[in-house]
This record gives sequence, structure tokens and C-alpha cells, in this order.
Amino acid sequence: MLEIQTQIPLAQHTTLQIGGQAAEFLAATSESEIISALDCVAPILILGGGSNLLISDSGFAGRVVQIKTLGKKISDDFIEVAAGENWDDFVNWGLAQGLGQLAPLTGIPGTVGATPIQNVGAYGTEVSELIHSVEAFDRSSKSKVILSNQDCEFSYRNSIFKEEKNRYVVLNVRFNLAKTNQVLVKYDELAEKLKCEIGESVEANLVLQAVRELRASKGMLLDWADRDTYSVGSFFLNPRISTNQKAQLPTNAPAWEQADGSWKISAAWLISEAGFQRGYQLGDAAISTKHTLALCNLGNATSDQILKLATLIEEKVNNQFGIQLLKEPTYIF
Ligand SMILES: Cc1cc2nc3c(=O)[nH]c(=O)nc-3n(C[C@H](O)[C@H](O)[C@H](O)COP(=O)(O)OP(=O)(O)OC[C@H]3O[C@@H](n4cnc5c(N)ncnc54)[C@H](O)[C@@H]3O)c2cc1C
Repeated sequence: MLEIQTQIPLAQHTTLQIGGQAAEFLAATSESEIISALDCVAPILILGGGSNLLISDSGFAGRVVQIKTLGKKISDDFIEVAAGENWDDFVNWGLAQGLGQLAPLTGIPGTVGATPIQNVGAYGTEVSELIHSVEAFDRSSKSKVILSNQDCEFSYRNSIFKEEKNRYVVLNVRFNLAKTNQVLVKYDELAEKLKCEIGESVEANLVLQAVRELRASKGMLLDWADRDTYSVGSFFLNPRISTNQKAQLPTNAPAWEQADGSWKISAAWLISEAGFQRGYQLGDAAISTKHTLALCNLGNATSDQILKLATLIEEKVNNQFGIQLLKEPTYIF
């Protein structure tokens, strides 16, 4: 029997601490509860840790299904982790088992089941590098399916789960993790912090510690005592542009050439060049004082204020550089 609650404030379930009431809310602690909960006519919102969601103050007029399943299974081929497990707890557990490749992804809030949705990444590693396959419930065929790593169509902060919105509910993520306590350092800032070269291998525990320190210094480690972290992490993606578009930018614009010949541009640079400095405020919605890409709730920010601030930033960047910034979080409006 499903325990359905009504009129539950969603702000308490998001890291922005913003969001009105859900008409229906239920916490699903087993796969069968998740599947039964999906069998309804009302619109459905799948909720993990609420760390990548901007929910309207007017709430959600449907059913919110919070994924709370737990469990890890180790087999010869992969480690299967239930969608509701906390990601950071899993990383810590993995390191204790000698699965060092997880170290660069320490400190990302939220659940394991949400990590494939936007192919979470940090400090030179994306979760897609570690995923064997994903077990999901396909709402269109009403059946359980296994998607191989390739089927997931992972790319920069994207996947089939984001592209085919509302189709799949992730039940379990299967990881392919080598037993190693060495991590290949692939990110300049991390190499600098560890005083090593790119391409060098460093002990996983040292990488974990270094990443946590870097994240804390940028307000990217969730800390309820620090309003800079009441965010969704980076609000904007780093845009990908063509060589022709890049030629229109000032020569000092930070840009990285991609394998397909396109260029990745720093969204933080575009935003600050467009006149937005850290700490910029619109009511209680603000740019973090520690990171230009994080929009945060200083106390009583409304969903509209965050939206207005994001739109203002997008417009100014577009007017000045002709580049459309893309948002990272899911909007529920
Ligand atoms: C301080 C901070 C730092 C962050 N740093 C990073 C970072 O370094 N790298 C990065 O990539 N992200 C980062 N993020 C963003 C966020 O933590 C990740 O995207 C995370 O994976 C979201 O997990 P969640 O469980 O909170 O998902 P939620 O916010 O609850 O949901 C996000 C989206 O995924 C969907 N979803 C959630 N679970 C499932 C499921 N089981 N099946 C189907 N759909 C599902 C939701 O419907 C929603 O559309 C950061 C956020 C914060 C607040």
C-alpha cells in the first residue's frame, strides 16, 4: 500500500530551498513501490536529492516520487547500486573498497540514480566513464529495461535520460570499477593543487582530499552553514561553439578545442565579461561569492527571482557575445 502524502512543501527537498507544494508526495523505498507509484494519471516528478532542480513557488500539481531505494550488489561483472543511495556515501564506500577511480567525483550532492541523467562530471572525470549499464523503468513500454553504456548516449552533461524527458526512471546504476588506489590526474587545477603533472597517477585518498578542498573553496561542497552552497552547483553549461564563432571572441577568452573541432568556452568568463561579478544580487537571488556559475538563495529568494537573474545573465551574454548560455538544472514551472 503506497503512503501518499498531500500538500508537501518541496523547498525542504531541494538544495536551493525553493519550491512550493506537491499535490501528492511519496517516498518510494523499493522498486515495486517506485513502479506502483508511476501508475497514475497525474504528471510525475522524480525526485532524488533535489540538487539540480529549480521548482516554482507555485509547486507541482502532480505526484512527486522521491527515490529512496538502498543497496549495493557486487558481482563479477559490475557493482550494482540502488538509485536512492547517496552519491557521496557511495564514493566514500568505493574508496574504502579500493575503487579509487571514484575519487574525482567526491562531493557531488544527490543520489546515485541521478548521476547518469546529466552525466555528472568534475575535475576531468565524467560518471559515464565508470558506468557499465543502467537498469531503468521505461514508462512508455511499462517494463524494466537495461541500457548499456552506449544506449545511454552520454555526452557533456547530457544523456538519453535528459533527451527523452520523463521516459525512464533509473532504478539501479551498474558500475565498472577497477581495483586501484591510483588516479590519473586529468585536470589542470587539480594537478596544480596536487603539485603534479597532468597524466600523472596519484593516490586516490590524496585526490579525494584535494578535490574536496577545491570544491569547498568554491562553495561547491554542500554546507548548510554557507549560503553560497544553497544552489544547484553550476547553473550554466560551458557553451560549445564553432571556430568561426570563436574568431568573434576576444583573443583572451578561455577556450578549449574539442575532439570534434568545436570549442568549449568558459561560461564563467562570459558571465563576468558581461558585467556580472560574484556576489551580484537580485533580491535574495545571487551569484555565489565564491563561484561565478553558481546562483544561490541567500535567504528568501523566490523561484521567479532565480529565474529572472538567470534570464538577465543569459540576455547580457547573448547581447555581448552572440552566445546562448544553456542552463544545467531541470526547471519545474
Ligand atoms: C553544491 C553543488 C555542487 C554540485 N556539483 C556538481 C558537479 O561537480 N558536477 C555535476 O555534474 N553536478 C553537480 N551538481 C548538480 C547535482 O548535484 C547533480 O546533477 C546530481 O546528480 C543531482 O542529483 P539529485 O539526486 O539531487 O537529483 P535531483 O535534483 O533530485 O533531480 C535532477 C533531475 O534528475 C531527475 N532524476 C533524479 N533521480 C532520477 C531517477 N532515479 N530516475 C530518473 N530521473 C531522475 C529529476 O527528475 C530531475 O530532472 C552540484 C549541485 C550542488 C548543489
